[in-house]
This record gives sequence, C-alpha cells and structure tokens, in this order.
Amino acid sequence: MLTALNTSPTARLPALDVARLRQDFPILQRAVHGQPLVYLDNAATSQKPWSVIEAERHYYAHYNANIHRGVHQMSQEATEAYEAARDRVRDFIHASSREEIIFTRGTTESINLVASSFGQRLQAGDEILITEMEHHSNIVPWQLLCQRSGALLRVAPIDDAGQLCVEQFAKLLGPRTRLVALSHMSNALGSINPVKKLVNLAHQVGAVVLLDGAQAVAHLPVNVMDIDCDFYAFSGHKLYGPTGIGVLYARRAILDSMPPYQGGGDMIREVRFAGSSWNDLPYKFEAGTPNIAGGIGLGAALDYVGGVGLAAIAAHESELLRYATALAGEFPGLTQIGTAADKGAILSFTLAGIHPHDIGTILDSCGVAVRTGHHCAMPVMEHFGVPATVRASFALYNTRHEIDTLFQGLTKAREMFG
Ligand SMILES: *Cc1c(COP(=O)(O)O)cnc(C)c1O
Repeated sequence: MLTALNTSPTARLPALDVARLRQDFPILQRAVHGQPLVYLDNAATSQKPWSVIEAERHYYAHYNANIHRGVHQMSQEATEAYEAARDRVRDFIHASSREEIIFTRGTTESINLVASSFGQRLQAGDEILITEMEHHSNIVPWQLLCQRSGALLRVAPIDDAGQLCVEQFAKLLGPRTRLVALSHMSNALGSINPVKKLVNLAHQVGAVVLLDGAQAVAHLPVNVMDIDCDFYAFSGHKLYGPTGIGVLYARRAILDSMPPYQGGGDMIREVRFAGSSWNDLPYKFEAGTPNIAGGIGLGAALDYVGGVGLAAIAAHESELLRYATALAGEFPGLTQIGTAADKGAILSFTLAGIHPHDIGTILDSCGVAVRTGHHCAMPVMEHFGVPATVRASFALYNTRHEIDTLFQGLTKAREMFG
C-alpha cells in the first residue's frame, strides 16, 4: 500500500519514541471499563499534551486579560501570546504573511466565513464545484449559498477505492465555476487528494479554491504557497490543540476584496451612525473577543507537533496503517471502505452481518474508542451502499499493540454476533 509519504525519505527518519511521547498525554493513562484506554478516534478529535493543557491553564492563572485594547501589563502579555500563536500558524502552513491568518472557531466556521463573505459575489448561473467525499461542513454551507444566490452546486464523483475521479473533476470545471471546495484528506476514507494539481486545474478556468484541511494538517506537512490554494481551513482540536479555535488562511488580495463576516468589536476602525470603517487584516474578520486561551493553546500544540516533526509523525502513522491494513485484509468478513493509493492513517470498514454500532459497543467494552456512523459524510456512505462504517484513526501516540487490541475486540464481536 502506498502512503502519503512514500515520496519522502522516511526510511532515514529516526523512529518516534512513542513510549516517551505517550507520557506527554495524561489522558492515555486512564482506564475505560477497567481496560487501558486505546484511543483510535483521532479523526474526530485528538488528545492533548500537557504543554497545551498547561498553556491554557497558565494564561488563566497568570495573565488573563482581554487583548488588543488594554494598555495594562496583563493585556499586553495576553495580546503578545495570542499574536505569537498567529505567527506560529503562519510558519506551520507556510503562508506569506500573518495578515493572511484569521482565527475562527474551527474548520466549520472558516468555511462558513468564506461562504458568507466571499459568497456575496456569486450570482445565479455561477457554479460551485465540490466532491463526493466532502464532510458535511464542506457541503451544507455551499448548499445554503446556492439557495441565497441561485448558484449551482456541482459534485465531482469518487471511484470505488474512494479516490477522486480527476478526469471527471476537470470536466466539471468551466467558465461558470467560481469556487472549488474540497478536502485535502477525507475524514471518512483517508484519501489524500492531489491538491496541487487540482488547484492548478481550477485556476485555469479562473475559479478560486478552498481546501478543507481539517484532517490533513495533523498528518502531512502543508505548504499553502506551494499548493497555491486561495483558502485553507482547519481546526485546532484535531491537531493536538484545544477545541473552539481554528484557522482560515486566505490569500491577501482576496481578503482585501472581501466584505466583513461578522460585525462587532475589534473588526472596526471607526464606528459612526452614518457608517463604519473596517480594521486592517486579519482583524477585519475577527469580530468580538476571541478564544484567547484557545489561540494560545493552539500555538503550544504547533510547538509540540513541530518538536516531534510532522514527517516523523507521518512515517509512524503510515507504518501503523500498513500494519492495520494487513490485519484487516486477513480478517474474515471485513470489507475496507476507502483503499486509495494515497491515504492517511484512517481504517474504515464494515463486518459482514454485524452492525457498526454493535461493533463499537463491544470495542468500547474492551477499552477501544473508535467512531461508528456516517462520519458526517453521508454521500460517501451512499456511494458505498452502507449506512455506516467503523473507523479507526491513528495519531502519533498509537502503537501496534493497540491495533492488536482492536482486532482482538473485532474477534470478540464476531464470536458474539457473527
Ligand atoms: C472534522 C472535520 C471538519 C469539521 O471540523 P470542525 O472542527 O467540526 O469544525 C470538516 N472537514 C473535515 C474533513 C473534518 O475531518
């Protein structure tokens, strides 16, 4: 099986010291139903290292104050820490300037920001192109925009391995395509899209491209300038950071031409009853008191991930995926959903004759946390003709031993229900 990193010299990377890294995550010490926790629901949210937990605690215990306004010492300290996190995000995704980094509540809000602000320029007859593998957060905001504007939503299909059909995608692009929105890596299938090529195809017809990076950022190095996308959205909480904080990267020229998203404090320069004027980027898009602790925590998460190294994380996860895929191939009655050649650390499957929720319940009794359901990607389930799958998704702290525990649980499920 090919993986995300088979073009990189991963063989030369030193292996992660997973036993030591696990010590950084306090939650991994807990038990569930009397069994050691085996956390394989990382695509829904990842666990947090002490450094992230401490960064938030330290802010509240030592310099809690509102930012950007106060002249007092603590307000300046909080502003500095929050803005330093913005610089870390810029470095992390290799944006050209900090003005292009907008803090949001998460991927969902980032996409809604684009739909509601950039979306105002769409008219009846314009087209938005998405793909069949999108998360609901990258479908519904565009449906709502189509209802408001009269634009048309087009959907590029996937094949039976769960890979985007690039030829069909290219055929659906045309002079009416104003916006293309697609995931960098699918949360339901693990498929990694050839985003650089797709962005280039979309730019040839003059369309603007948004990438949903909610999964990709935790598993592969991302360089928005190299990919050349116009928007890139992700959440902190799937990247070992806090909930309630996320990022929208956008090309500066586009941000300059976009109207504000929400109105309120911080996003204005002057407010008069005759009319108001907007603050500079990125603050024009950040109305109201933000999630200050979350931003600081996200900065700590990026420091943590940077310290471990995304290339080493990706190599470790690829190895776990290879191991799990091999076991899955031998397991009686197991059908893998999503077998893309280029795939991140997600194993999605069904077991003949056993409902995914029953599998999830038995695994839970073994201390194994997986996700069962449609994974907020109902069109993907429809494509494969299943109501739901079981999804095991891996992170830097997972081990082969945990994958063995997962398969022991599946054997138990088969004995009980099969
Ligand atoms: C999780 C996820 C989202 C939504 O992220 P939120 O943090 O819930 O806003 C969107 N797209 C993909 C691919 C995801 O995995």
